[in-house]
Amino acid sequence: MKGLPRVAIVGRPNVGKSTLFNRMARRRAALVHDEPGVTRDPLEAEVEWAGRRFVVVDTGGYDPRGEAPVAVQVVGKVHEAIARADVLVLVVDAQQGLTGLDAEAAEQARRAGRRVLVAANKVDDPARSDLAAEFYRLGLGDPVALSAEHGRGVGDLLDAIVARLPEGVEPPPDQGLEPVRVAVIGRPNVGKSSLINRLLGYERLITSPEAGTTRDVVDSRCRHEGRDFVLLDTAGIRRRSRVLAGTGGDLERVSVSKALASLKRAHVALLLIDAMEGFTDQDRRLVRQVEQVGCGLVLVVNKWDLVEKQTGTLERYEKGVRSAYPLLEWVPMVFASAATGQRVRQALTAAGYVYEQAGMRVPTATLNASLQAAAALRQPPSHKGRRLKILYGTQVAIRPPQIVLFVNDPDLVHFSYQRFLERHLRAQFGFAGSPMRLIVRARE
Ligand code: GDP
Ligand code: GDP
Repeated sequence: MKGLPRVAIVGRPNVGKSTLFNRMARRRAALVHDEPGVTRDPLEAEVEWAGRRFVVVDTGGYDPRGEAPVAVQVVGKVHEAIARADVLVLVVDAQQGLTGLDAEAAEQARRAGRRVLVAANKVDDPARSDLAAEFYRLGLGDPVALSAEHGRGVGDLLDAIVARLPEGVEPPPDQGLEPVRVAVIGRPNVGKSSLINRLLGYERLITSPEAGTTRDVVDSRCRHEGRDFVLLDTAGIRRRSRVLAGTGGDLERVSVSKALASLKRAHVALLLIDAMEGFTDQDRRLVRQVEQVGCGLVLVVNKWDLVEKQTGTLERYEKGVRSAYPLLEWVPMVFASAATGQRVRQALTAAGYVYEQAGMRVPTATLNASLQAAAALRQPPSHKGRRLKILYGTQVAIRPPQIVLFVNDPDLVHFSYQRFLERHLRAQFGFAGSPMRLIVRARE
């Protein structure tokens, strides 16, 4: 099932996720399987609809208030499912109406930067599809009214899912594609060398004959989930790491400025932060560099093994880090341990995903429909009787995605409205982990 687009069913407990999953999976019942290991692992199944195939994942309940430490694990799994998903289906209970946990789940889904569909479940009586209307308030577009139990509306949902599947993701991104160039960056001692060693496997360690000199840049290649990756300047990172042992903060700056050279060659940066030390000013500087250079970003919270975990630790931690810099709201976060190897490979999965997202092209018609919806959702600002009009938009570049907006008067595009537009576009199209450039131009 590798390489197929992935659809994750998310939502608070008891809204009917599993029922919906079973409905969808029934079409290919033989392929339903439990992932080996823990019984609460997500379920996956392959679904075919309207000539498209995808994998649907039942995340088995999103409850940040569940019991520790199992819940932390499960929530970690949900994160993983979300990180790997192309489309999220947020299931809500239309009979109960909108709850705080729904809003939280929506926020979570939005922050993941994926395309999200709201499935208003338990509309058993087709005459009551009005029950779904309330969920417009989640700000995730038209809710699809359905009854997973009776099978009503599930076809509509499948249509909507298929319409949002990324183009060209199937067949698997296997051969003939350029490798994803990954820069591993972060402050000294955060675990860059350790992570790289993990990723390459010890047998593939490159021992540079010129160790100790700074002459050449040695990159390393590895393969993960059918895709090639190049880890940039691996020799340099190991070397610096050794040199740095027992030196002062001077080299902290050296290592940050070194990062820039790699970033300029990279598709995606893995920024490691130290779980114990949290997000520092130096880390913020690095994120800013990533943003300026325009490559993708995955945030790896390393040394997660050292953190004492209680209920909600991960969510609190994540919230704190994401609020430290605007771009971080849209960046996949991986809680890893280079020391134990836990979730280290997930960092590469996320990098591959971000690479794809940063390379996405939104068709002009789709983009303009979304811009119109945005203007309907929040009225464009006006000044001295003149109101901003967004005439049309078009995506002119990828990596990073660059969108030109033609408007009647660029001065009317306030920062806050631009932020709103970016938020709206990301909620619809994702561009997860990638900086996004909105360029405003005047057009009469
Ligand atoms: P999950 O915790 O989100 O996976 O929810 P489940 O799929 O286990 O469903 C929770 C409860 O809602 C079960 O008792 C289901 O039978 C019920 N349920 C699921 N879908 C529907 C539906 O469309 N209509 C009604 N009335 N009940 C439903
Ligand atoms: P670099 O300077 O960023 O390349 O960092 P290193 O890979 O050299 O790691 C610095 C120190 O942190 C070493 O002592 C590692 O053993 C330790 N370390 C790295 N990753 C982890 C981790 O995930 N957990 C723990 N507990 N220690 C780690």
